[in-house]
Amino acid sequence: MPEPTIDGSEVEKDETDPPRAPFWDEYEIPFEHDAAIKVRRSGLLRGSSGTGHARDTVVHLHVKETFEAGRLSREADSYLCENGSTVDFQGREERHRNDDGDTIVPAVSCETCLERMERWRVEDGE
Ligand SMILES: [Zn+2]
Repeated sequence: MPEPTIDGSEVEKDETDPPRAPFWDEYEIPFEHDAAIKVRRSGLLRGSSGTGHARDTVVHLHVKETFEAGRLSREADSYLCENGSTVDFQGREERHRNDDGDTIVPAVSCETCLERMERWRVEDGE
């Protein structure tokens, strides 16, 4: 067995796991997921606002593994809002910066994705 190192590097995460917007605390999503955008072939304006993103960039839920939840099911690597879709390679792992300058996984802003995510919303009894 390897000796744990003093600097705590024995604590391994599955992947590099950037912090997430507080938004994600409201959900318990039972499959691998991430934030993704849909890349438009023309006019993707990166760096056009303070956050490094066009203001109207819609963030979608990237379904990273096949799941089934009642009548809703998706294949791996699709957008939650669009059956049969494939997440654009360039649109994967969408990251924003928060006010502290940290890179975070942004909140989903696509209304259809949000609607479908309602089922995984955590009710914490207040
Ligand atoms: Zn969406």
